[in-house]
Amino acid sequence: MARPALLLVACASVWVFAALLAVTGCGGVPTGIVNASPAEGSGAALAPPPATPPPSKVPVVIHGEKQMVDKVVRSDEEWRASLSPEQFQVLREKGTERAFTGAFWKTKDEGTYVCAACGLPLFSSETKFDSGTGWPSFSAPIAGENVATESDRTYMMLRTEVLCARCGGHLGHVFDDGPGPTGLRYCLNSAALALEKP
Ligand SMILES: [Zn+2]
Repeated sequence: MARPALLLVACASVWVFAALLAVTGCGGVPTGIVNASPAEGSGAALAPPPATPPPSKVPVVIHGEKQMVDKVVRSDEEWRASLSPEQFQVLREKGTERAFTGAFWKTKDEGTYVCAACGLPLFSSETKFDSGTGWPSFSAPIAGENVATESDRTYMMLRTEVLCARCGGHLGHVFDDGPGPTGLRYCLNSAALALEKP
């Protein structure tokens, strides 16, 4: 009669051992990842986006008042999209329209001639004169600040190129054979200009 009792005790011991194994073996918390945070470290390494530099300013005179305006800087593609082919050739490629063909060479309308590319006021009809050249000609700009000049040595000549001070667009050339009091002749391309009438 002792053997069945011993067997029962042995079976009970197996069950107790199995129960203990289940509690201690599987119930433990995996401590290795307790402190890991998915947010921690994911954004700290990102640098802030680079700041866009502000546009450079240029001093000009508009309606008789000196002021600073943003320079206009565009790529050739952007200029092509905003100008006619003839305007692009003159303003951006320093082209010259044929004499006696432009819109303004004989215009006597009153108004302000502005840059066809950026709208900056450049010349007044008050200083426009008939030079006989077939190009619109002026004795002086609205303000010296509104135009820039550069030496131009193309075509085996030394000439002075006239550019818009705001966008750098080519307007034409200036010569010293103009009427008084300046003695200057700003010989411009109609394609570089637009006339704003009062
Ligand atoms: Zn301009």
